[in-house]
Amino acid sequence: MAVVSSTDLLSQVVTVMFAVGLAGSAIPTYTAHRQITWLGMGLALSPMSLWLLFQPQPLQKVVGLACLIFLVTASLGARRLSAALVDAFRLTHELERANRLAEAAAMTDVLTGLSNRRAFLDHAEQMLRYAVRHHRPMCAVMMDIDWFKRVNDTYGHRVGDDVLTQVAEVLRTRVRGSDICGRIGGEEFAMLLPDASVQDACRLADEVRSHVEQLNFASPDGRSFRITASFGVSVLRPWMGEDIGILLHSADEALYQAKAGGRNRVDVALPASP
Ligand code: GH3
Ligand code: MG
Ligand code: MG
Repeated sequence: MAVVSSTDLLSQVVTVMFAVGLAGSAIPTYTAHRQITWLGMGLALSPMSLWLLFQPQPLQKVVGLACLIFLVTASLGARRLSAALVDAFRLTHELERANRLAEAAAMTDVLTGLSNRRAFLDHAEQMLRYAVRHHRPMCAVMMDIDWFKRVNDTYGHRVGDDVLTQVAEVLRTRVRGSDICGRIGGEEFAMLLPDASVQDACRLADEVRSHVEQLNFASPDGRSFRITASFGVSVLRPWMGEDIGILLHSADEALYQAKAGGRNRVDVALPASP
């Protein structure tokens, strides 16, 4: 408005074209913020358009009117574009959130909240690879609740589920942040303990064993009962390589020994070669 000549029509038209360009560029620049888009367009175009509308020559009025029509239609377009952009942001955010939840659900055991078998094995394989490459000690502990079928048969499945949840809670509170534990079968749990000697692993297993033994459960008819669990410990040996299956199988054999040896105890796998 300050530089435009009040008598030269050509300069007025050039200036108004420049203002139209400015107003149009506000759309892609500020689309994400609807009000700023409208403010930018209005500030760029409305003074010149209104001024032209009240000028004496018909051509000036026509140009002013055309500019105002552009301003209104472009504002409506900007509103649609901005709504579409906001929708796209929201949908992308919701999709990412749903993906994160689905991923977490696929890795978590619904009943206990511990890692499920797949997540445990995935994580364990990575930890094992690290331990083998850096020559770090590592132990695996397998745990199985004793006579669990009897618990279900005597007190019902729901009480059985409560037992599993409380046992999982003991595991969660006993293991270190760097250890991993998961529910890898019905009433079977596994732990992987990086940087742990066989003594550390046995101490931890015995601690969990003793805590599980002291848990008190209530049956639906008000009686209380206790349970026990057996444990097998295995130690990473050079000949096992990076195979998590061998380490866990070895712990499973020790667990079998613990069951055969009377249950409610911790056994260690003998360091046999393959
Ligand atoms: P052992 O001392 O030899 O391990 O005997 P056990 O009775 O614990 O072992 P068995 O393999 O005979 O029984 C396991 C039972 O675990 C059978 C199955 O009904 C029960 N079970 C498996 N998954 C679940 C579950 O998610 N909830 C409940 N309540 N029970 C389960
Ligand atoms: Mg069992
Ligand atoms: Mg079992």
